[in-house]
Amino acid sequence: MFLWAALLAATAAAAPVTPGPGISERLANDRAASISSLRYELSFQIPETKTKPIRGSEVIRFSLRARHRIVVDFEQPRDHVLAVRVNGRASDFLMSGGHLVFAASATKAGENEIAIEFVAGDESLNRNDDFLYTLYVPARAHMAFPCFDQPSLKARFKLEIGMPSDWRVVANGAQTTMTISGGVASVRFAETQPIPTYLFAFAAGKFQVETAERNGRTFRMFHRENDAAKVARNRDAIFDLHTRALAWLEDYTGIPYPWGKFDFVLIPSFQFGGMEHPGAIFYNAAGLMLDPSATQNQLLNRASTIAHETAHMWFGDLVTMRWFNDVWMKEVMANVMAAKIVNPSFPEINHDLRFLLEHYPYAYDVDRTAGANPIRQELGNLNEAGSLYGNIIYDKAPIVMRQLEGIAGPDAFRDGLREYLKRYSFGNATWLDLVQIFEKRKPGEVASWSRAWVERRGRPEITTTLRTGTDGTISEVRLAQRELVWPQRLEVDLGFPGQVNRTPVAMNGPVVDLAGVAGSRQPEYILPNGGGLGYGLFLLDDTTKGYLLGHLEDIPDALTRGSAWVDIWENLLEARITPAEFVDLVTRALPKEADEQNTERVLQYLAHSFWQFLPPEERGRRAAELESLLRAGIARAGATSAKSAWFAAYRDTVLTPDGFAWLERIWRREEKIEGLPLAEPDEISLAMELAVRGVSGWRQILDTQLTRTQNPDRKARLAFVMPALSADPAEREQAFERLRRLENRRHEPWVLESLRYLNHPLRQPTAQRFVRPSLELLPEIQRTGDIFFPQRWMEATLGQQRAPEAAQAVREFLAQTKLSRRLEWVVLSSADNLFRAARMQ
Ligand SMILES: [Zn+2]
Repeated sequence: MFLWAALLAATAAAAPVTPGPGISERLANDRAASISSLRYELSFQIPETKTKPIRGSEVIRFSLRARHRIVVDFEQPRDHVLAVRVNGRASDFLMSGGHLVFAASATKAGENEIAIEFVAGDESLNRNDDFLYTLYVPARAHMAFPCFDQPSLKARFKLEIGMPSDWRVVANGAQTTMTISGGVASVRFAETQPIPTYLFAFAAGKFQVETAERNGRTFRMFHRENDAAKVARNRDAIFDLHTRALAWLEDYTGIPYPWGKFDFVLIPSFQFGGMEHPGAIFYNAAGLMLDPSATQNQLLNRASTIAHETAHMWFGDLVTMRWFNDVWMKEVMANVMAAKIVNPSFPEINHDLRFLLEHYPYAYDVDRTAGANPIRQELGNLNEAGSLYGNIIYDKAPIVMRQLEGIAGPDAFRDGLREYLKRYSFGNATWLDLVQIFEKRKPGEVASWSRAWVERRGRPEITTTLRTGTDGTISEVRLAQRELVWPQRLEVDLGFPGQVNRTPVAMNGPVVDLAGVAGSRQPEYILPNGGGLGYGLFLLDDTTKGYLLGHLEDIPDALTRGSAWVDIWENLLEARITPAEFVDLVTRALPKEADEQNTERVLQYLAHSFWQFLPPEERGRRAAELESLLRAGIARAGATSAKSAWFAAYRDTVLTPDGFAWLERIWRREEKIEGLPLAEPDEISLAMELAVRGVSGWRQILDTQLTRTQNPDRKARLAFVMPALSADPAEREQAFERLRRLENRRHEPWVLESLRYLNHPLRQPTAQRFVRPSLELLPEIQRTGDIFFPQRWMEATLGQQRAPEAAQAVREFLAQTKLSRRLEWVVLSSADNLFRAARMQ
């Protein structure tokens, strides 16, 4: 018996234990602790035709202190591995769960070398007819070639590309040699500085190259734009924006650009706005090559994107997160830098208001719900990295980083970042490493702040109490937060006729009294987030609520009005303001709103409250008045973008026969809206909105629109969505049923548009039938879809529902089904407004 056990144990130890699918944090930590001095020498042979396989070969060199089992990631079938030699000898290995596993006995202390010949997987190579590009973030490099696919094993890459001789190629390193023979070009690149696999990149194909000299540096722009005038119009601006961002960052960080040469590639239909590969940034071409009609906003977005990716050369590339749970850090730092670089060049935009309206409402959309998640989450395996991305990372994290700059002060903030970049150059660091640097500078402040804002989920709840003396002057203004203490700096606005007094307050305890206000006259309202800084649920006191409902439009400052609108909305969701009161306020105040950013935000709130919170009979009673309000807004608005926002609100909420008739005349091109030219996508939206309202001839309108549509992608999309617009419930049922099959979900935007129309408020109550099956499909949606798909799938299903029966269906499903915690959060955050709407009834 004893012998048996010993023997079994010995066998188990000898057999390499498989690490399981994906890249677990445990595997990554084990490898980072044992492997050092990592280098890859890689070669890819790219054939002319995109369907022919790409052959590759590589030598991976690394040091070990002692013999150690080696796990190399390669997510391909066994037959993609053609030959393997470890330290010069043909070697046995186990292939399992997307890994090649080598026994410790094949390795040695000191230098090791694994040589592999392979067939590259195409999944992350984006192969097109005459070009391809890599996109490996967050962990897709190991689909293309065997590697240690984790951010904490930085390596030097030496690359050789074989390709058709009329192609161009760009990679992280500078090109060193090129030879051409038999129609095949062979290009070699200099070895890179240490970079992680997710930043290793190349693009090859039929590209044109523009070159420019700026400040003694050569910039190259690879692109595929065949409109020469468009290139000529944009090129100098694009090079100048890069030059300015680079100079600013070298000065701010005190560290020269770390990557030698500077190239970038403009890719049509690129998945993101940009990707920060060192020495070879990839951009979505449409974001950089602008038309002469480009709006101020598009120009600002282009400058911001360029500054964002350039900032990553330091934040993310030079210093990289150790694990993907800190991916938010590099994104936020790049945004903070981009705002500093770009905003001063756009003085006509109210940037504080923009920051408020672009981040707070979206962060609250998650943080007010039971599905809230902390900024910094556990991440057990890189194959779940996709589920980290969402509003909390994109919208709450920037708010939180601005708080840190507020705590430290701008100079200490910069100095802390300089220290961080210098200390961890070409290495990795965690959020806590940065916290430690700032905690040293501001002892007792930063670590506790980080525990609340970064590690916890949700938001503080802040109430205001005003006490007045017998003479009517202020005796006390008290701010209190419930239960938890979330330290933050506020700018509290006290409003007086025609005037706003702004007082900074450090909210460092459960209760804080406003200093220096006792004895002054009584304000009309108090907004603790008036300066656009404070984050939380600000429950309005009765005086303030009464004032805002009666006079919001009299507040002179656009930023204070923006904050007030955000607060009003949150108080509506807390059932402290009724939907009817809210719509009354909008009806009166919106026509007087002078700021376009505020107008756009309120129009969105209006459409939302109209469908989800107003009872149907109340909608009917108010429709005519709202439509004339919105039509007056369209006529009054100056800028095309403002007109378009008013028109979209009209189109999406119209309910009267007169309104339908006007829209139909516009759709039939019998009438025009002055100053608002409608393009093909606008006409498609019009046709769909008319159809979902069941206007007579709806089917013929859709058929005509389909024939009219020129662009083949848009035509295919409309054809796909049409059954979801049918007035026939059986046809809609079929439109839903086909979404069960993966091949019908390939175009995610098409699916989401179908779902939104299937669940449209005018399709209640039949739409409630789709709630349960949509929930049941969610785990499969997560398994098979892109990173944003599960959340969007749920929002398209639940985002317009208001019936208590629908809320009940969600609760029953959650009670009966075991979902992963993250998926449960997705359901809870998407269902939150439905739960509130059901409670209001
Ligand atoms: Zn980024």
